[in-house]
Amino acid sequence: MSAAGFVLAINIFVAGLFTAAFGTVAWRNRSAIGARWLAIAYSIGMANAALEFILPTMQDPALLNLTVFTVALSAFLVSVIGLARHYGTPVLWNALALLAIASVGLNAALMDQASSASFWRAMAYQLPYFAAHVLGALTVWRSHRRQPLDLTLLVFLLVSGLQFVAKPFLALSMGDPGTADYLHSLYGAYSQTLTAFLLIATGVLMLLIIVRDEMAAITLRSETDKLSGLWNRRGFENHTERALVLARKASLPSALVVADLDHFKHINDTLGHAWGDTVITAFARLLTDNAEPRMVVARQGGEEFAVLLPGANLATARLYAEGVRVAFSGIGPQLGISALSASFGVVQLLPHDDLSDTLRRADQALYEAKKSGRNRVIVADPMLVTSNPEQLTGS
Ligand code: GH3
Ligand code: MG
Ligand code: MG
Repeated sequence: MSAAGFVLAINIFVAGLFTAAFGTVAWRNRSAIGARWLAIAYSIGMANAALEFILPTMQDPALLNLTVFTVALSAFLVSVIGLARHYGTPVLWNALALLAIASVGLNAALMDQASSASFWRAMAYQLPYFAAHVLGALTVWRSHRRQPLDLTLLVFLLVSGLQFVAKPFLALSMGDPGTADYLHSLYGAYSQTLTAFLLIATGVLMLLIIVRDEMAAITLRSETDKLSGLWNRRGFENHTERALVLARKASLPSALVVADLDHFKHINDTLGHAWGDTVITAFARLLTDNAEPRMVVARQGGEEFAVLLPGANLATARLYAEGVRVAFSGIGPQLGISALSASFGVVQLLPHDDLSDTLRRADQALYEAKKSGRNRVIVADPMLVTSNPEQLTGS
C-alpha cells in the first residue's frame, strides 16, 4: 500500500472510532444532541475516505472527484451543526446552505475543464473546506465559552481550515500529481498525514468538550431539586462548602436560615398533593427572588428549606427571613389558600463553625418558632447558642 493510501486507511479507522465514540455518548444520553450530529459527521467522513480509496482506480474520475468533494464538505458542515447544537448557539443555516450550493456548483462547473491540476481548480476545491472550518470556529466563538478546551478547539479549527488553503500552494511547490497518482505522490502523503493529524486533534477536542459538558450537566441534575429548581440536599452541601471556604478566607462570618412551611399536611389533605406542590414552588420562588446571587438556596426535602448567606451577619439574615415570611403570608389569598405561613430559624456561622452543628442549631431555632406559635422568625443567640432566643413574632 502507498504511503498516502496507508494514511487514508488510518483516516477511515479514526473516523470510525469517532463515529463510535460520539454515537455512544449520544445513545447513552438523549440530551447530547451535538454528539448525535458529530457521530453523523464522522460517519460521512468515513464514507469520504473510502471513496478517496477508489478514486485512483477510476477511468474518468471527474464525477467521483466531485462526489468526494461534496461528501467531505457535508461532513464538515454537519460537524458545524453539531458544534452549534452542543454549544447552544444558533445554527448558521444560511451561511452553510450558501457555502454548500456555491462550492458544489463551482466545482461542478470546473469538472469538465481540461486542466485537471491547475492551482485555481485546487483552490476552488479547498477554499470551501476552509470556509466550513471558519464557520465552525465562529460557532465556538459565539458560544462565549472561553475555557482552555474551547479556545484550543477554536485554534485547531482555524489551523485545520488554513491547512486546506495551504494545500494548493503545497501542490504547486511539490508538483501536483493529478488525481490518478495522488495516492503514490509525496504531496498525497503529506496532505493525508496533515489531515489525519488535524482530524484526530479536533475530534479528540470535541469529544473532551462534550464529555466535560455532559458530566457537568449530570452533576447539576444530581444537585438540583426537580420540583422547585433549587439545590437539593447534596447540592446544598457541595455549594455551601465552596461558599464557606471563600467566606472563611475573607474571615467573614456567615448566616444560615432554615424554613419549614406551617401545617403543610393540612394543605395537602384539604387541597391535594398537586396544590401542595404549587405552594412548595411558590415558596421556593420567594426564597430565590429575595436572595442575592452568592446565597445558596436549597430544598432540603419535603417542605423544608435552607439558605446559606455567605459573609452575612445575623441582622441581614433575619431581614431576609422576615421578607420571605411576610411575602409568603401575602400570597395565600393569591393562590386562593387562606393563611399560608412558614416558620424560620436563623443562626450565625462563625468562620471555624461546622456546617452540620450549625444546621442542628438552626433546626432548634426553627423548633422554637413552631413551638411558640409558627409564622415567625427565631434568631438563635450566637453567644448563648439556643437559650433565650430573640423572638420576632409575625402578624
Ligand atoms: P408543621 O407546621 O409542624 O410543620 O406541620 P406540617 O403539617 O407542615 O408537618 P410536617 O412538616 O411534618 O409535614 C410535612 C408534609 O409534607 C408531609 C408530607 O406529606 C408533605 N410532603 C413532603 N414532600 C412533599 C412534596 O414533594 N409535595 C407535597 N405536596 N407534599 C410533600
Ligand atoms: Mg411543616
Ligand atoms: Mg417539615
